[in-house]
Amino acid sequence: MADACLFCRIASGEVPATVVRRDKGMVAFLDIAPKAPVHVLVIPERHVASMAGVEGLTPDERADMLAFIAAVAREQGLESTGYRVTANHGPDALQSVHHLHWHVMGGTPLSDTM
Ligand code: AMP
Repeated sequence: MADACLFCRIASGEVPATVVRRDKGMVAFLDIAPKAPVHVLVIPERHVASMAGVEGLTPDERADMLAFIAAVAREQGLESTGYRVTANHGPDALQSVHHLHWHVMGGTPLSDTM
């Protein structure tokens, strides 16, 4: 399952993506269909299907992930204007790729309906 996972293949470099940061087992790359002027996806290199499986990461990896997300937003120039971080789990949230990923979005005033 994990071998066929699209985001595992992006993390390994097998599938091309525009990687903007890579550190401590995390990768950030541009979303292929951006919903904001800045739309970056952050994933752990190690396969975890969603937030529901976050205990599959170590406490250090979970802490590193938060710091990594904040660093991505800062590097993308979003810190002063603001940004949104979301992770979808399951059908009600319309999760379409089953490898934990955080959407980091900004660069414009974001909708208040999501
Ligand atoms: P979600 O609906 O939360 O599972 O989000 C999946 C996200 O992955 C969507 O925003 C897609 O546009 C994005 N996506 C799908 N395939 C790729 C890809 N090959 N490279 C970059 N982003 C992708």
